[in-house]
Parts: sequence; structure tokens; C-alpha cells
Amino acid sequence: MDDTMTQIRANRERLWLSLMDLARIGAVQGDGSNRVALTDEDAEGQALFRRWAEEAACEVTRDRIGNLFARRAGADVDRAAVVVGSHLDTQPYGGRFDGPAGVLTGLEIVRTLNDHGLATEAPVVIAAWTNEEGARFPLPLTGSSVFAGLLDLEAAEAQTALDGPTFGAELRRLDLVGPEPIGSFAIDSYFELHIEQDTKLERAGADIGIVERGQGVRAIGVTLIGASSHAGTTAMPDRRDALVAAARVVEEANRIGHERSTLITVGRLEVRPNSRATVPGEVTLVIDIRDPEGARIDEAEQAIRVGIDVIAAASNVEATVAHALEIPVLEFDTACRDAVQHACETLGLSWLPLISGAGHDAMSIARIAPASLVFIPCRNGVSHHPAEYSSPDQVGAGCDTLLQAVLDRAGVV
Ligand SMILES: [Zn+2]
Repeated sequence: MDDTMTQIRANRERLWLSLMDLARIGAVQGDGSNRVALTDEDAEGQALFRRWAEEAACEVTRDRIGNLFARRAGADVDRAAVVVGSHLDTQPYGGRFDGPAGVLTGLEIVRTLNDHGLATEAPVVIAAWTNEEGARFPLPLTGSSVFAGLLDLEAAEAQTALDGPTFGAELRRLDLVGPEPIGSFAIDSYFELHIEQDTKLERAGADIGIVERGQGVRAIGVTLIGASSHAGTTAMPDRRDALVAAARVVEEANRIGHERSTLITVGRLEVRPNSRATVPGEVTLVIDIRDPEGARIDEAEQAIRVGIDVIAAASNVEATVAHALEIPVLEFDTACRDAVQHACETLGLSWLPLISGAGHDAMSIARIAPASLVFIPCRNGVSHHPAEYSSPDQVGAGCDTLLQAVLDRAGVV
């Protein structure tokens, strides 16, 4: 790039004001936002973004799973799009930055290109993916996973909300079903800015995190079957208490996690019949295993399976184990990472290589196109909470970084 391109900067104040305007939709006490996927507030937030994108002369389209795309045409009609995106939905009583910072960074990049009358070779598309959070509906990264062909449209539409309706029904109720077929355009590269949701950048005093890898996730479902019986008449030696066995499995999984420094969590447990006066006959639990190395996930699972067999025998219950979820370890594209690193160096920003502990839309898109996930610091690592905060300069520095990377990748006419 020539020197004039490297001088261009985003308008930090405008970006900040847009973030604060969006956060007012579904605002909750303590500076948070509540725009859970496919609620009225989510639709209203999307409508505001859509209006802003149209005002910035983008062509806005929506696909069948509700993903929103705002396109700024490129000079070369044959070039695939350089995409900047993230999500607009939030956790219940979530923050103002998790998601919107990435989408509105895309918007600010387009606005900045407009300010300077700059044409790019490749089109620049801003993407807002549907239901990233998976809070109200069970499948996180729904929109980006369907786009990337990792999840069937039908399966995505069939998932049901905690409060009852299906995903498909809510899309239709809110008029969020678009005419675009899934995956209707080619992606040259994808850039996502996101708050770190951790304290590594803050502690290191670094401006930018360049994510090298997303850790792998494996969830295994365990069903323990004993026998339901009367709590008042079943003598202790005669019991086949599935919940006691489950408690031992939780303890063993936790012990293995500590022993191996692999993240192992039991966050979900169902007890049947779940009645005070009945010895529990059946328990299902889900064990979530995460590690940046796939082989270590395999080893941890093996250790857990051995432990479950021992516990089941000792507790006089039957155990079955099945895979419930698998997200392989993801290595981000080196050329995209280099573009971001080069942008940091151009801008004089300090950066750190990081591993992402959480799932992000970039991880879906990275399966089908070169992608980069870029973190900015957030205060005390707090996220999924109204107190979530990154400063105007932190968001602005992230936006400038992506702007340079996008110019690099899209090419200036
Ligand atoms: Zn997010």
C-alpha cells in the first residue's frame, strides 16, 4: 500500500456514538443491553444497523437464516468479498460490546472509505450473524454455522427456544427470513473484531490480540441408570442411586481437569424423577472438555471414560457415554494474521498472539475462507455482564487495525 492509505483512520467518536446508540435498544440497568436472539429487541437492533448501512450506501440483503449482509461494491466485479462481521444479539443482561463492536467496526470501515471517496478492488461486506450467543436457542453460532455449511438450515430452524417457539417461527414472526440463498457469495477473507473477554491483553498492556488458534471443544453426554425407589424404605446398602454416582463422576472429571490442566466442566445435570422422597434412578450429565491441543482432548476423554467405568461398577449403576458436540481445534489463516500484524506495525500498536477460549463466528467462517479473529482489551476481562467495557480508544485502535487489513486485502483502486 502507498503511504496515503496507511494515513487513513477511522472516526473513533462516530464509532463510539453508534455503539452507544445501539446499546440503548434493550438497555438494562448498569450500562448493559438485553437483545437476546430473535426477540423484538434483537430485531430492532438489526433494523437500526440496516438503516445505518443503507445510509452508508450499502446494498443490504438477508439470507434465509436471518444473516444480514451490507455490501459496498468493489471496482472488480469478479473479486470475492472481504467481509468484516460479528453479531448483534447479546446474552440476557449482557454488555454493549460483545458482538456489536465487530459489526459496527465493519460499518465504521465503510463509512471511513466513503469519507475518503476510496474505491476498493474487492467488495467489502459487513456481516451480522444470527444467534451467535446460543442463549435463548441452544445452538450458538447458528447463522455463521449455517452459512459455512456446518449446520443444516432445517436443523437450525427446528431448534426450540427456552420459552417455546422454534427458531423458524421466530424468524418469520419478526420478518427476518430473507430471500438470499445460504452461502450465496464468495468470501476472499473474513475479519472479526471482538472484545477479549479475558485479561491477557490488559495485563500485558497490549493494544491488540491476534488469535492464532481456537481451542477444541468436545462435549460428552453421560447417562447413569440405577433404580428409583422409596427414600423411606430402601436400606442404604440396597440402593442404586444414580445421583450419588453422578456426583462421583463430576468429582472425577474435575480432578482430571486439574491434573491435566485441561478445561473440564460439568454444567448440566438432569435428575429423574427429581423428587425429594425418591432415590434418583437416572441422571444425565454433560461433560465439556476444552484444550488447544486435540490430542489432549482425546487423552482427557479416555481418562474420564476409565473413571466412569470404575465409578459405575462401584455404585451399582449402568453408564453409557456418547459424543454430544465436537468443535475441532482451529488454526487461523496465516496470511490474514500477517495482514493484521502488519496493520499493527503500521499503526504503532502493540500486539500479542492469543488462543481463543470462547467460540466466535470467525471460527465458523474460518472453515470455508481465510479468516482472522482480532481481540481488543476489555476492562478486568468482564463480559456477558452489563459492566462489560472497552474504551473509545481501544475500540478505535481495533477498528483502525481492521481498516488497514481490509485495505490491504481488498486493494485500493
Ligand atoms: Zn460475541
